[in-house]
Amino acid sequence: MVEDNLRRILNELPPEVKLVAVSKFHPAEEIMAAYNAGQRRFGENRPQEFAAKAAALPGDIEWHFIGHLQTNKLKMVLPYATIVESIDSKRLLDAVEKWGSERGKVIDALLELHLGAEETKGGFTESEIEEVLSSGSYPHVRFRGLMGMATNTDDMDVVDSDFARIEAFKKSLEERLALPDFTELSIGMSHDWPLAVRHGATIVRVGSAIFGPRSY
Ligand SMILES: *Cc1c(COP(=O)(O)O)cnc(C)c1O
Repeated sequence: MVEDNLRRILNELPPEVKLVAVSKFHPAEEIMAAYNAGQRRFGENRPQEFAAKAAALPGDIEWHFIGHLQTNKLKMVLPYATIVESIDSKRLLDAVEKWGSERGKVIDALLELHLGAEETKGGFTESEIEEVLSSGSYPHVRFRGLMGMATNTDDMDVVDSDFARIEAFKKSLEERLALPDFTELSIGMSHDWPLAVRHGATIVRVGSAIFGPRSY
């Protein structure tokens, strides 16, 4: 089933768009089913679960951390993550910079733009992101692009305007700031990834459409 779901999505996804299979709450056996079907890029959102899976599963998996990360949990995530997609506050960013500088490492990261209508969701405003990118204060963080989560709604017009907003912002940053590594736009989940692709997604994060519903 996991294999069929993957194949169906990959058939439709343009080859240059990266698929992150979001495996949170699903056991290692299901990740291995996707792995054995050729999938190598997975996403997790809880530090403890992430660290346990990353330590146990094959070393050629590219792990994307996509959840809220508290600064006291960096040690569970940064040693394993290929990229942290969910840098959602200055506080977290400062802590990641410090972690990298203490170890002489550069961490790949996306900056999360607060996109949805929900107040509760994290993320930066556009002007905060501009400040971060122009500050030059993060030599141990490689900013690879933007991540966003659209408003949680079935109204695709709302989702469309959320995606249009982050797409336009990314374009304007590219035009105004010289950022050679800043190429990624991570938007789109199970129910809206085709729309995200039409808005320039370079990464889509798909969970339930691959692994089925989560039990939580
Ligand atoms: C869970 C999650 C997803 C995947 O959600 P689905 O609707 O299951 O595809 C994508 N992005 C983030 C940040 C998530 O937490």
